[in-house]
Amino acid sequence: MKEYEYVCQECGQQIEVNGPMREAIVENGCPVCSAPADTDHFSQT
Ligand SMILES: [Zn+2]
Repeated sequence: MKEYEYVCQECGQQIEVNGPMREAIVENGCPVCSAPADTDHFSQT
């Protein structure tokens, strides 16, 4: 189940993610462009 929507501030990619995916993106950066991601870049769906 997707709980959050991530919008990359760098490349504009929008990705629907669940909790663990959100943590992985915060830790590793955007899956598309590797830009640093912050919890602010996620909105709850
Ligand atoms: Zn990106």
